[in-house]
Formats: sequence, C-alpha cells, structure tokens
Amino acid sequence: MRDNFGRQHDYLRISLTEKCNLRCTYCMPENGVPLTPKEALMTESEIFQIARIFTRLGVDKIRLTGGEPLVRKDAAEIMLGLSVLPVKLSITTNGILIDRFLDTFKKAGINSLNLSLDTLNKERFLQITKRDEFDTVLNNIDLLLRGGFHVKINVVVQKGVNEGEIFDFIEWTKKEDVHVRFIEFMPFDGNSWSKNYVFSYRDILEKVKAVHSVEKLNDKPHATSKAFRVKGYKGTFAVISSMTENFCASCNRLRLTANGKMKNCLFSKGEADLLTPHRNGVNIEPIIRQCILKKKAVHGGIVNIQHLSDADKEIKNRSMILIGG
Ligand code: SAM
Ligand code: SF4
Repeated sequence: MRDNFGRQHDYLRISLTEKCNLRCTYCMPENGVPLTPKEALMTESEIFQIARIFTRLGVDKIRLTGGEPLVRKDAAEIMLGLSVLPVKLSITTNGILIDRFLDTFKKAGINSLNLSLDTLNKERFLQITKRDEFDTVLNNIDLLLRGGFHVKINVVVQKGVNEGEIFDFIEWTKKEDVHVRFIEFMPFDGNSWSKNYVFSYRDILEKVKAVHSVEKLNDKPHATSKAFRVKGYKGTFAVISSMTENFCASCNRLRLTANGKMKNCLFSKGEADLLTPHRNGVNIEPIIRQCILKKKAVHGGIVNIQHLSDADKEIKNRSMILIGG
C-alpha cells in the first residue's frame, strides 16, 4: 500500500463510534455534531471484515478510537474479534470506562493504551471536558499502572488553558513509569482553533529545558512524537508536533471512520466510502488502493497549516469527534 510519495501504509486507526461521554472543547463542537443513523454505521462483523481486508493488504497495526471507543456496547466483542487478526491491537480512550474492560484488554492482547488527560486539576478538567469525571479517570489510570499496562497520557496543550501544567505532568514522570505526550492543538471543524492557542513543540521543549536536564530518546520509525526524559526520572515525555514540525514524510497511517469512510490523512478533505460497496458485495481493495494514491504530501494538502488565519473557512474537514484521532 505504497502512495505516490513512496510511503508504505501498515497502520489503520478505526473509529468505533461518533459518540462520547465527554465534550472536550478542542474536539467536540459546542452544538454537537449530526450523528450518522445507526444502520449506516459499521456493525461488529463489518468492522472485522473490513479490517481483515486491510490486513491482507499489509496492515499489521490497528488502533481503536472514536468518539470514545469504550462507549460502544459491543466494544469488548470487537476487541476480542480483532485480536485474532495478525495485528498489534491498541486503543485510545478517555479512560472513563477502563475499569470495566481490564480483562478484555488482557484477553485481546492490548497491553499498551493511549489515554487522554489534559489537566491534573479537577476544576479545569470540568472546564475542558464539560463533565465531572476527573477522579474516575485518575483512578482508572492507577488501575492500569498497577495492572502492568503501558500507559501513554495524551495532553492537548492549549495556550492560556493548560500550558501552565506542563511541569506538573513532567513531575508525574519522576516516580511513575508513565509516558506523557504533549500534543500541539490542531484545527478541525467547529473547534474554534486559532494559531494564538498553539503552544508549540519548541515552546514546550524550551520551557522544560529551562528547568530540567533533559535527554533525547530514540524515536521509532514512523513515530509521531519526539521522546525525551528528564535525567533520572522513571517515566518519559514526548511532543507530538503535528502543526509546527510535521512528520508527514514518514506517515504510515490510514483511517476508517465509524460510518465506514476511509481517510488517507487526518486532514484530508476527501474520503472513500468503503462500507456501501462492501455491503453491495463489491471488492473494496481497489478503492483502498486508489484512496492511498490520492494522499497528499503534507497535511492533506493544506498549505502552511500553522498560520491559517480563519481555520473554519480555510479547512473543510470533519470535526475530530467524527474522524477518530
Ligand atoms: N475519546 C478518545 C480519547 O479522547 O482519547 C479517543 C478519541 S480522541 C478524538 C483521540 C485523540 O485526539 C485524543 O488524545 C485527543 O486528545 C486528540 N485530539 C482531539 N482533538 C484534538 C485537537 N484539536 N488537537 C490535537 N489533538 C486532538
Ligand atoms: Fe470525547 Fe476523546 Fe473527543 Fe474528548 S477527545 S470529546 S474524550 S472523543
């Protein structure tokens, strides 16, 4: 699954649902999103069938996302079903329902999770997510760490909102084997993005280095994050510099939305419907290959993304909640 720029694609992110039990301001538009009718969403068996086609084409890593993947009623069945495929299976979750799924994760071979938490302050959590679930998430992170799971904490850093907490997150890595990943704030439909709210990779690194002695760690091929450790600390931290230092040149990721549309890039305007032809008995392999050949070199073809002056007008995409980050 090579594209026109020589990039080989072996990583598929599948969104299980458009719904969520949080309302993060950077992801979910204030007035919500129009939800796809249930009959137009992929069923458990369609997810499995389409995922299997991707594995035949070379995918060997699948990440489940959403919306919040764990709010889907058949989330456990989906994880167990996909676990028989020859893939490394993982999940990105907001952590609220983790305690109900620890056994399923183990049975499905999911031993590493990405968990989103943008603040260590209860009141700020409520402001960002519009839900009072801070304690639940912290308790569940604790369950994961004590249960031997590898936990990466995703923190979307927004200037004027939570950039003051970068040191608190770094302190967390002192004694705990957590991996904190600071993510640059990205523009999507309805999330009121402005370049003034982006706290960049350079900003973050400068801030941390001004206080701590920091060592650079090796990044895996295709890594989206640049990893570091404060010397002597148990855990690590990283920055996902999607906006200011993109990693598009080594991108190996494809996306499948909950309603069965394939996106070749997080920022791609176009998408390829896989579910309808699949339901009609059409071989979707050529559609997948065609979609990959349309992949743009950088940021789905958006030029100079970090300097957009009116993202809502200049970007035509879905809201993040409808893509599956
Ligand atoms: N509900 C799950 C969660 O929050 O982890 C999975 C879906 S969420 C859309 C996936 C990831 O996208 C989360 O880590 C979230 O923080 C990130 N995300 C959402 N909107 C973003 C934005 N505008 N900029 C950067 N990251 C974003
Ligand atoms: Fe829900 Fe995750 Fe989006 Fe927050 S980031 S609204 S938890 S899907």
